[in-house]
Amino acid sequence: MNILLMGLPGAGKGTQAERIVEEFKIPHISTGDMFRAAVKEETEMGKLAKTYMDAGQLVPDHVVIGIVRERLGKADCSTGFLLDGFPRTVAQAEALDQTLQELGRKIDHVINIDVNRESLLARLTGRRICRQCGSTYHVIFNPPKEEGKCDKCGGELYQRDDDNEKTVATRLDVNIEQSVPLLKYYEDKGLLRNINGEQEIGTVFEDITSLLRGQA
Ligand SMILES: [Zn+2]
Repeated sequence: MNILLMGLPGAGKGTQAERIVEEFKIPHISTGDMFRAAVKEETEMGKLAKTYMDAGQLVPDHVVIGIVRERLGKADCSTGFLLDGFPRTVAQAEALDQTLQELGRKIDHVINIDVNRESLLARLTGRRICRQCGSTYHVIFNPPKEEGKCDKCGGELYQRDDDNEKTVATRLDVNIEQSVPLLKYYEDKGLLRNINGEQEIGTVFEDITSLLRGQA
């Protein structure tokens, strides 16, 4: 089962990825881990990527794809994989298709955890920190007993600058803009499976497993 997992920041992609790989016994291939491993193992593409990184340059697509190719060719991917954080552009998606074809593989499902912008903003801006003891809260997921006040020490809760609505919204909108053509690409191929990510974590996971087991 070859799966590609998509979802905007705050959609709960990381949590679902962990559960999916455990349930279906497939490796979780996230871009960051894959890069670090390739550089550390000094694979051909890893060494090449390092020359760009050391020079402070962006690693070009053909090298990124080369690393993906090396990773997907490993034995643990023989029964499937969960790709997370890649591709990010249509050009990368096309290159991935090409690579998979050469490996005699294909993507079976593109799972998109769908959460609307407003909910994402609420989730991403909800963190609060205690001025006195540094305890963290979240207005939706882990609210303090009394609004604005730390449960542990009674200190005042504040919002960090990079959690404020304007900063978060700008970052989120860049991600949304990037994801639109990519979602369209997979929709046109008939691979896109939208999962309602507004639901509780457990329900989202149930929807994903039903879909992957062909029951949805
Ligand atoms: Zn406190």
